[in-house]
Amino acid sequence: MKHGDSLNALLEIASTIVHEATHEWERQNKGKTDEVGPVQAERVFINWVKSNWNMIIMKIPQLANLQNSLYNQKNRDIIGRSGFSTSQI
Ligand SMILES: [Zn+2]
Repeated sequence: MKHGDSLNALLEIASTIVHEATHEWERQNKGKTDEVGPVQAERVFINWVKSNWNMIIMKIPQLANLQNSLYNQKNRDIIGRSGFSTSQI
């Protein structure tokens, strides 16, 4: 993994789990899978994180610290790629 900051890495891992789980769900329930559903599910997940960020950091305060270190590093490549802008959280 090339990115050094923890919040980006964590969101990348979580998105990958959502993606792969959606492949598996489609295989079991539709008998086939492609990239459309899994990519869409990743986007839905990231949007959910964005719109629930205040609730999330209330329940998991450690994430707020990761967010602060993200600001300090000014490293936004992965979050930018996912459309997850730190200016919105
Ligand atoms: Zn895939």
